[in-house]
Amino acid sequence: MAGYQIGVVGAGTMGSGIALVCAKKGHRVLLMDVDPAMLEKAKAYFQSVLSRDVKKGRISEEEKVSVFRSVQFVEDLKKLADSDMVIEAVLERMDLKKSIFRSLSEICRPDALLLTNTSSLSITEIAGGLRSPERILGMHFFNPAPVMPLVEVVRGKQSGEKQAKFVYEFAQSLGKVPVYANDTPGFIVNRVARPYYNEALRILEDRVAGVEQIDRILTEAGGFKMGPFELQDLIGIDVNFAVTESVYSGFFHERRFQPSRIQQKMVQAGTIGRKSGEGYYEYDK
Ligand code: NAD
Repeated sequence: MAGYQIGVVGAGTMGSGIALVCAKKGHRVLLMDVDPAMLEKAKAYFQSVLSRDVKKGRISEEEKVSVFRSVQFVEDLKKLADSDMVIEAVLERMDLKKSIFRSLSEICRPDALLLTNTSSLSITEIAGGLRSPERILGMHFFNPAPVMPLVEVVRGKQSGEKQAKFVYEFAQSLGKVPVYANDTPGFIVNRVARPYYNEALRILEDRVAGVEQIDRILTEAGGFKMGPFELQDLIGIDVNFAVTESVYSGFFHERRFQPSRIQQKMVQAGTIGRKSGEGYYEYDK
């Protein structure tokens, strides 16, 4: 499966990673963002990853140039009109995603697949009221997209079987390990992961242990690759908080999913992890 034209909406942490994965597999990619600074950041990210690949002998200099040339960086959603599929990776907000899908369903060909990388929001709601809802599905990559093998293929109430199978096989062609999930808040992984973050935050609130101590116990003694706080910093505390809020609301305010005020305050302060230079830990800006 090579040679598709793929639109990616949102050039942040996930969008830039997904765009790179697709470009490296021979697809033409249009990476779209409303913020030109994010497009510049994505360009620099591509250059640095591809240069490292050349240095390590994984690809030739010519391949690097060809992958880079296969990506166009655009600020206008309308440029995605001829795409065979579009993968949306903007902020985890239902109103924003709905408005983007409304535009995409008007701009794009009726047979183009419209996919969302949402971590937790309802695919059924995103597709609700739009024409051809059978082509709207979740295609949920994990962070960092070029490294993590898992992709959840999420079927909303009106998503088509044929389309879901195509997305599943497309994920395989990208070298990923897809899994089908039905449309429930947080799907599989983010539902399982909520207690990991939430309970760690409660331990912190109760002053049982500190941030570094909790991370260290879970990684060094617990065998987790990353502790709950360093992982939130990597994901983005804003994104993580939005996912927790969405899962909490999706489960009709079940106490076990209740968000933490510590996380809320970090978002309010703008100390949202690595991307802001500060979260639970400090980073070089
Ligand atoms: P991010 O904050 O890094 O990037 C979001 C991007 O969307 C920004 O560049 C922003 O400028 C852009 N944007 C905002 N409004 C836009 C619009 N109207 N049109 C085009 N671009 C717009 O966020 P992220 O971490 O990449 O998360 C994106 C999505 O992926 C979310 O739905 C999130 O839940 C999901 N996700 C995140 C992770 C993670 O670990 N960060 C993992 C899996 C899935």
